Amino acid sequence: MSTLKAVRGTRDLLPPETELWNFVEETARRVFARYNFGEVRTPIFEDTQLFARGVGEETDIVSKEMYTWEDRARAQSEKAQSLTLRPENTAGVVRAYIEHKMGETGLLQKLFYIGPQFRRERPQKGRYRQFWQIGAEVIGPPSAGSESPLRDAEVLEMLATFLDELGIAGWRLEINSVGSATDRPRYLAALREALAPVKHLMCEDNQRRAETNPLRVLDSKDPNDQEIIEKLPKIADYLDESSKEHFAAVLAALDRCGVPYAVNPRLVRGLDYYTRTTFEFTHGGLGAQNALLGGGRYDGLSEAIGGPKAPGIGFAMGEDRLILTLQAQAAQKPAPADAYIAPLGEALNPAALELTRDLRRAGLRIELGDGSFRLKKSFEFGNKLARKIVLLGEDELQSGILTVKDFATGEQVKVPRAELAQSLTA
Ligand code: AMP
Repeated sequence: MSTLKAVRGTRDLLPPETELWNFVEETARRVFARYNFGEVRTPIFEDTQLFARGVGEETDIVSKEMYTWEDRARAQSEKAQSLTLRPENTAGVVRAYIEHKMGETGLLQKLFYIGPQFRRERPQKGRYRQFWQIGAEVIGPPSAGSESPLRDAEVLEMLATFLDELGIAGWRLEINSVGSATDRPRYLAALREALAPVKHLMCEDNQRRAETNPLRVLDSKDPNDQEIIEKLPKIADYLDESSKEHFAAVLAALDRCGVPYAVNPRLVRGLDYYTRTTFEFTHGGLGAQNALLGGGRYDGLSEAIGGPKAPGIGFAMGEDRLILTLQAQAAQKPAPADAYIAPLGEALNPAALELTRDLRRAGLRIELGDGSFRLKKSFEFGNKLARKIVLLGEDELQSGILTVKDFATGEQVKVPRAELAQSLTA
């Protein structure tokens, strides 16, 4: 019988790596809480229509990458429903915002999420079919100030602080404005006009994009087409006064806070409900899949999925890629336990468990051996798992004085049981 393996593009996350995952998630929770964000957890699967309308039918995600199935009807009177594993979380959060009438509070909603997403992409380093995103959204009625450029700058400043607190060095923020829903048609017309005489010189994908969604030609990575792309009109020249002012205000607030950025006029999002600010944080250490996170404004999204006017801005970070970056920065060693408790003989196992319990209750990280091990084996295991070893034999049990050896220094000392917890943390 062939052995069963995790499905292509999915992975088991194991210790000690999971410690790094917890560290990243704890840092996100701690930093986001300071900005007064609350956590939202939406279902892993949703009605397929949500993504068709909320992500966009013409995107790669919706047209090729979703895990979709017809859910069996439970009764004859019921129709089968098309369901999809969520490929991203913004659509789900905005659906929840609408469903729970969160806009009626009249306040901004600041929501973050952490969880797995699913896309049928070709797996490679940094690209998986089940991957984790950490994201946040600021959304609310315009009267709550949801359109203000201050919100964009606040989210970007939070991301810079988060990455710095995580210890990710060398990130790069690229930012652009894609204008409002009224700027866009003028720009698209200019883009189509500029592409018409040259598109036959471009790769097949770009020829198709030039027809269906010309904005996407701009973020093409095809090396042969770059010269043509460089010369295409820039959206910055098609922004109306209010979009220009909005973008300038975002940049001014970033300047004031010392958040470094580079304006990249080719950074675009292909759908109408993405408006104004778009951004991406990249990291050179990631190779081909160098995007750590992406985000931007989506002032028309709520209405696109049947909700009230609710402008918003958000981002989604690839947690897998944060982990890869941290791992590349520092070769990771599992953190050793504070001590390894070695009972000397099986009869001492119950007393060893009791001692271990007391030390754990005192907040220490303890690994427990087994009295059936010979002393040599206890030392070998202890040395692999912990900083110190505590020997518990008959003598130690009677006298209440334990023998503790420090593996790093080789020093061996006798410690009264009452002082043990304190001495192990020293
Ligand atoms: P997107 O929702 O496509 O804007 O992606 C936001 C972020 O999620 C990206 O910048 C990546 O860091 C991460 N990401 C997207 N797709 C994948 C994937 N297949 N595997 C791992 N990370 C991904």
